Amino acid sequence: TNYQGVGLIVGVTGIVGNSLAEILPLRDTPGGPWKVYGVARRPQPAWNADNCVEYIQCDVFDPEETSSKLSKLTDVTHIFYVTWANMGSEAENCRVNGDMFRNVLSAVIPNAPNLQHICLQTGRKHYIGPFEALGKIEPHDPPYHEEMPRLDVENFYHVQEDILFEEVRKKEGLTWSVHRPGVIFGFSPYSMMNAIGTLCVYATICKHEGLPLRFPGTQDTWNGYWDVSDADLIAEHHIWAAVDPFAKNEAFNCSNGDVFKWKHLWKVLAEQFGLEFHEPEGQGLSLEKMMKDKGPVWDEIVREKGLVPTKLEEVGQWWFADVVLSAGSSLDSMNKSKEHGFLGFRNSKSSFLSWIDKMKAYKFVP
Ligand code: NDP
Repeated sequence: TNYQGVGLIVGVTGIVGNSLAEILPLRDTPGGPWKVYGVARRPQPAWNADNCVEYIQCDVFDPEETSSKLSKLTDVTHIFYVTWANMGSEAENCRVNGDMFRNVLSAVIPNAPNLQHICLQTGRKHYIGPFEALGKIEPHDPPYHEEMPRLDVENFYHVQEDILFEEVRKKEGLTWSVHRPGVIFGFSPYSMMNAIGTLCVYATICKHEGLPLRFPGTQDTWNGYWDVSDADLIAEHHIWAAVDPFAKNEAFNCSNGDVFKWKHLWKVLAEQFGLEFHEPEGQGLSLEKMMKDKGPVWDEIVREKGLVPTKLEEVGQWWFADVVLSAGSSLDSMNKSKEHGFLGFRNSKSSFLSWIDKMKAYKFVP
């Protein structure tokens, strides 16, 4: 094949990495035909293996390993950076995520003469601050837009952006884009934050125990207007920025372009698993507490229903669901993306249903 683009997806089994791995190699993808490399630490899982991707097992936190494995990829034209490390404290997040990103860039930039563009995915915490600062600092006033200045708080997204700006200066003509999704609706069972996967696992446990689907979040979240970001849409947004001259050297929000309320999606979730549902209770419940001892229950469900073997702590990110479902209302603006020519969108209810279907089709939940 006469490839037009050569993409390097760092975090290829993640929630957006997996979507990029599916979409980039397709015949009609802009900028193609694409040759695609994909990087992650674990061996390639079966659910990621149908994609036309050259899989490279590499821990990008290790500078030697990254240099030896990625400096060989001399034909790379575009980098899609869709990974992170969750170290618990933001100071550590800044150090480790900065090092990981720098390791990748210093392996690739000097060795890939045709490198044109780097897409960095950060997120909406750019506008509200890191997890540890939630409720402690004043976030920006939503709807969030890209002109808003950085909050005066430590944030690994700032560190990554600064590394990006510094590194692109090292190569004439090299361009960048930053992508800021909200909560992502997607598929990957290897993701550190998969809201839909986590809710599907919760619903499965409720079903197994004959319990109703209690809403663990707050009244504010139940009733508030929300937007989210479909993983395939984010992949399209990355690819748009990679190939479109009007998208260069800018940061962009990336969300579905519609609003919903959790009270409506909760009903949809209950229907998909054949459950009764409950409205929010008091100040909200903690999934982290409710699911604490459910490991053996999950093992039993996996056995009984013949699911792909997973551990509860891998597929149920309770801390994340608790943060999401007590976040009140959250909205950004897609005006800048539209003004620069990206007109993609998703219907969030259809998106919700399609990712639930995919979780079931791949037998991660019954
Ligand atoms: P995921 O957690 O879904 O995926 C991470 C990917 O990176 C996996 O493929 C993982 O595979 C790989 N990986 C992790 N550590 C390493 C490493 N040291 N070396 C090589 N590969 C590694 O990522 P997200 O898409 O969620 O995160 C990307 C960005 O998006 C982050 O900044 C995040 O904050 C942001 N974001 C995410 C949201 C969400 O809902 N998920 C919402 C908004 C923003 P393996 O473990 O096998 O290495």
